[in-house]
Amino acid sequence: MSDRRASEQDELRDQNDESPLKTGTDPLELIEQCLASFPEGDARQKLLYKLRHAVTLSQAAQQQRELEFKKVGEVVAKLTAPANRIGTLLDVPGEGLARIVVGGAEYYANVDPRVSETDLKIGTQILVNEAYAVIKTLGYDRNGPILKLAEAMSDGRLRFEQEMGRQSLILPRSTDLIGVELKTGDEIRIDPSHRVAIEKLADRKAHRHVLDAPPKVTWEQIGGQHEAIAGIRKAIEYPLLHAETFERFKFSQPKGFLLYGPPGCGKTLIGQAAAGSLAKLVSESKPQPTPDGDMRLPVTGGAFLHVKGPEILNMWLGESERMVRDLFDQARARRKEGALPFIFIDEAESILGTRRAMRSFNISNTLVPMFCSEMDGIESLHEVVIILASNRPDLIDPAVLRPGRIDRKIKVGRPNRDAAAEILRVYMAADLPLDAALVREQGGDHTQAAAALVQDVIESIFRRTDENRLLSIRLRSGQAKVLYRGDLVSGAILASIVQRAKEKAIDRTVQSGQPSGLLTKDLLDSVSEEFREGDMLPPDDAAEEWLKLLDHHPEQVVGISSFRRGRQSEERLINQVI
Ligand code: ADP
Repeated sequence: MSDRRASEQDELRDQNDESPLKTGTDPLELIEQCLASFPEGDARQKLLYKLRHAVTLSQAAQQQRELEFKKVGEVVAKLTAPANRIGTLLDVPGEGLARIVVGGAEYYANVDPRVSETDLKIGTQILVNEAYAVIKTLGYDRNGPILKLAEAMSDGRLRFEQEMGRQSLILPRSTDLIGVELKTGDEIRIDPSHRVAIEKLADRKAHRHVLDAPPKVTWEQIGGQHEAIAGIRKAIEYPLLHAETFERFKFSQPKGFLLYGPPGCGKTLIGQAAAGSLAKLVSESKPQPTPDGDMRLPVTGGAFLHVKGPEILNMWLGESERMVRDLFDQARARRKEGALPFIFIDEAESILGTRRAMRSFNISNTLVPMFCSEMDGIESLHEVVIILASNRPDLIDPAVLRPGRIDRKIKVGRPNRDAAAEILRVYMAADLPLDAALVREQGGDHTQAAAALVQDVIESIFRRTDENRLLSIRLRSGQAKVLYRGDLVSGAILASIVQRAKEKAIDRTVQSGQPSGLLTKDLLDSVSEEFREGDMLPPDDAAEEWLKLLDHHPEQVVGISSFRRGRQSEERLINQVI
């Protein structure tokens, strides 16, 4: 045996018994001990340093491998575990229990006690394990279909009509829908398994178009239109204030009115004034018994639901109908709160037009029958007053205008000289600052000075001069007619003229720093600007719009040419572009 072998054997023996090396099994520790046992400067130390480095590296690599192996093990465990099914919670029949639907089948399942009770909302999605126990809630699934509510049933359930040919659907409410007030036509999201109504979607359109502010307009704010005002007051106020007399004569009360006439002449204004003043009148009068002896709900104010016909038109099937229904629902709700609601439908011909008229809007008109049935459901003016406004009454479906529905038609025409002066006076209040020289000319009388101003403006608008020519029209009879500013003036134009003039006076005051009153020139310049720049003349290609401007029956007008650019343009047939 060589010396070396003998010494190795000694070493091993030492390890097994009393030697300090016996406890160390970590290779690094052993190397450290070896190093320590060699005398300083021994050449073998170098080798041992190298060994120590190699062992360190190999240990680190080993640790890394172990870590990765562990990770892979976890992934494999995850991937091979069975998936949790997702279901919908239908009911919580008792503590720790749940009625659930999973993949179309219903289960009466246990609930993991770690799932919080407050998270167990009816309609939410839940995770179930292999034993179909509910182990987690996932919240509402907001990807389900949206249906329109057909009826909120008295027991809380909701009925939905499905598409043609499919049965209607009755669903329970989700926990969050319990107690929420829902009405026919509301959009409701249901859960993807079609078992629970989940949530009500915010109303998107109907409310946007309705201005429900109580009207503040009074009759005094309307210039001219005496006949129209008298007509509407008589037609609305009498039946409301003298209901008994109407009852005795078995007079069928109108439920609404059609105000017709060119744009900007006060139809909306009259509707608003009627709503404001009437609500006041009725609230002051004693509540009268209905024919059945019931007392009518007292009126405590007015409400004005204003919609524009074209805004109701909607390409979605049934959406326009829903909006009309919604409008009536809103009106009835306002009535219940004590207000006397007025439904004002502007540009009514666009939704209540004859078949022929509606064709141009490219929709099948189911709105007319629907509107009529809503109207028939209204008992009298005491419930809801309906006012239609239109520039083209000839296009409104006669079914809407039948007795018992909208059977009063009131013309709101263009102002003549006197009416135009009245309108100007409405906008030129008694305390309007006037030019001092102007007042001096009238002997210091402010009122007289204002009257003189009004006369000047009227004169400038109604003068039949070349400068005032606007249009020439040719009628079916062959007759040609030139229309002047005075023939096409409206309340809106007059209001705008005064507004422009006031702006000029204000500008002057601000620029000069001196208080300046209204000058005749301010008003006359404004007249020219209004007719030149104002948008009273429609675009060249809008034949329908041009016809609305005229006081002639559209059928009678065959051609129009304008003097817009200072000279007469070539006459175009009305059925072509202008
Ligand atoms: P329409 O409904 O007939 O198109 P509006 O009633 O909306 O017209 O009138 C538009 C605006 O023109 C009103 O807000 C008002 O300022 C003014 N106006 C129109 N007619 C009159 C009138 N007869 N008296 C006072 N102002 C009027």
